[in-house]
Amino acid sequence: MGEFRLSNYDCIGFDLDSTIIHYNKRSLFHLVYDLLTSFLVAKKNYNPKYFDEPLNSKDLDFVRKGLFMDFHNGNILSLTTEGKVHHACHGTKVLSPSDIEEYYPNKEWEPCSIFSRDPLVAWNGSLSVKIRTVANVFDAPFTLVFAKAVDGMDQENGGKLDKYNIWSDMQDAIYDMYAREQSGGKFYSELRNNPSQYIYKCNPEVLNWIRKIKQSKKTFLVTGATPEFLEGTTNYALGQDWRSLFDIIVCYAKKPGFFTSDRSFYSLKNNLEDEKVSSHQFRSGEIYSQGNWNELSEFLSNITGKSQPKCLYVGDDLLQDIYAPKKHELCDTVAISDELLVDRPSHDSCDTNLKNDENILVSKLWGSFFFLKSSSGSKDSFWSNIIKKYSKICIPNLEIFTNKPLDEPFKCFGQDSNDDLCGFHPYTPRNPTHQ
Ligand SMILES: [Mg+2]
Repeated sequence: MGEFRLSNYDCIGFDLDSTIIHYNKRSLFHLVYDLLTSFLVAKKNYNPKYFDEPLNSKDLDFVRKGLFMDFHNGNILSLTTEGKVHHACHGTKVLSPSDIEEYYPNKEWEPCSIFSRDPLVAWNGSLSVKIRTVANVFDAPFTLVFAKAVDGMDQENGGKLDKYNIWSDMQDAIYDMYAREQSGGKFYSELRNNPSQYIYKCNPEVLNWIRKIKQSKKTFLVTGATPEFLEGTTNYALGQDWRSLFDIIVCYAKKPGFFTSDRSFYSLKNNLEDEKVSSHQFRSGEIYSQGNWNELSEFLSNITGKSQPKCLYVGDDLLQDIYAPKKHELCDTVAISDELLVDRPSHDSCDTNLKNDENILVSKLWGSFFFLKSSSGSKDSFWSNIIKKYSKICIPNLEIFTNKPLDEPFKCFGQDSNDDLCGFHPYTPRNPTHQ
């Protein structure tokens, strides 16, 4: 396997949120928590006592990307590469190894095993009512809302319940939170009204770097953001001429389904979906909604003049952006994992945004994002294994690329048989057992 070079690709695509645009995680976390819990109290008659204590540093420490919820038992889990339960909490209370054994004999739970074999199988259908992971910054606070509701119910009941019916209420709360502004959705309106509280302006070097790529290659954006949200956040974070960065823009893409299904594309009129369109009708620089990879790649083929252009996709959601496209052999991927910033070898080069977000990214309770401590030292986490198998390289942010030429070589995963961490750049994550 050769080295990774951006110059080897004809088309380079990007996810938007937490890839190009970064958020103030602390503010976002509080907003999501407040909106979901207010809905549960007002519309689902949850006892306000469950959520009335102000969030403290322990609560922030509880939240971490990549955890799993066991809806039935009211537990939050971290998993090994094989899908075995590594750490677990019931509500916010840590479970001992013997408690874990009681819930999950031999640390196994079938939904986790199925998930570890193919995470996309668990994304929809019957498994999705049993297990759910939180794979990005917007979803991560769901685990705390769920856990606090479990704590409150246990307290009211004087002990654990046989079964918890919280997730369907939370789904209604999430749906309400993300409703369009015209329908009363508060998430988008809050971000639109107070962008500086939630959204970081994009580093101009990153924007210049995308422009530089576009001079010799085709660039595309595929984001799950709705048209309204896309417009609001990009105008603020990237500037008014952000559309000129990309040869085509796909919003409301509904990943991972975008990569695996044949959903139609729609044109947009006043930020609303207008007519179905197919790839031969696409116009360069336009924004389309929903759609699918096959038609996007037809368009990329047309504009590059190559029957099979070599495509790269860069994103932070390890399930939607990394696993889904690579598993289906559609394109290569680069994983953005800002956990690398806090699991770095030393803490001396810390920027202001990171200081603000550091205790959201770090979790003393759950430990390293990349390594699990085990009796024999350490082993890969579930997500570290996904990164190594399905991405070429893993970087904390796009700034890593900006001062390098496009043909700069990077060692990629699988290239060095003596170093299975060689695809992490600019450094390998700190192993907690090698302090
Ligand atoms: Mg993202």
